Amino acid sequence: MKALRKLQRGPGNVEVVEIPSPAPKEGEVLVEVKYAGICGTDIHILHDLYPKARPPVTLGHEFCGVVTQLGPQVTGWRTGDRVTVDTAASFCGLCQFCKAGQTQLCNQRVGYGSSTDGGFASLVTVREGALHRLPDHLSFQEGAICEPLACAAHAVMEVSSVVPGIWVLITGPGTIGLCALQVAKAMRAKVIITGTQRDEERLKVAERLGADHCLQINPQDSLPFISQLTGGDGADIAFECSGNANAVKDCLAALRKGGEMIQVGLFGHPILSNYDDIVLKEIHLKGTFGHNRGNWVKAINLLETRKVNLQLLVSGEFPLSRWPEGFRLFEKGAGLKYLLYPIKQ
Ligand SMILES: [Zn+2]
Ligand SMILES: [Zn+2]
Repeated sequence: MKALRKLQRGPGNVEVVEIPSPAPKEGEVLVEVKYAGICGTDIHILHDLYPKARPPVTLGHEFCGVVTQLGPQVTGWRTGDRVTVDTAASFCGLCQFCKAGQTQLCNQRVGYGSSTDGGFASLVTVREGALHRLPDHLSFQEGAICEPLACAAHAVMEVSSVVPGIWVLITGPGTIGLCALQVAKAMRAKVIITGTQRDEERLKVAERLGADHCLQINPQDSLPFISQLTGGDGADIAFECSGNANAVKDCLAALRKGGEMIQVGLFGHPILSNYDDIVLKEIHLKGTFGHNRGNWVKAINLLETRKVNLQLLVSGEFPLSRWPEGFRLFEKGAGLKYLLYPIKQ
């Protein structure tokens, strides 16, 4: 079968190659991949900026498809089931984090598409416990975007203190930001989302997805007017989804005293910021990383009850062989989510 693989360490070394089809072991199923999303992690692995990658390995951790074969001892699934896949291929199950259901923090966690073979291939073997049934009405394109939605469910529904009626600020209208927007709206919060000039199209999508205010801001400007928009002291909770230091400054300025700052985006380098704001305004700063099974269940539930729309986040799709085009568009920051499909749909 064809698979898009990182062949060895170092920048580049990514190619579509022919490898033997995998066979499911005990407790695993074989999934025929329908679509797989291109994500920042894939780009980092391409450029050798992701130390956890273990080449040679098939890339792609956001994927969905159909169960085509059951390994021994698999009981909960049948061939033909439409599924999406949790990115955790394995975790220890014994550490304090695993015991608390916080498997995203397990030191032994192995992820599909980086430490073990992922979904940029026609076929992939997946442990039974990592499968989630796709709601019937959901397309396979949308099925491939469940992973960022699970990230947003973790950030908004588990890490943050969002409750109905409060003002939420989201900086960065990328895929995760737009998923966070929809989860916050599903929880009946009021949402202000901000982006820069290059986010014009993304902010239009944010408007269609129900944002109360969509603001295109100049990186030099601060956000003093958030207090006017919120009719009070500022935003109650900020989700920083851009990984940009200017946006951190904006969040700290726009939050009310006693507000909550949730850092979602990664910067990839140390940043300068005015930490005094955190002291003077008694801001609660929290990080959020990935997701666990509980967040996936909530994300699938939001899809089942049609509280979120993932279709608007798909910007384009390419056959596996044309992966460089998808990677290039994603890296340029054009559009939102680009998908690869290994088999002609
Ligand atoms: Zn991802
Ligand atoms: Zn563990």
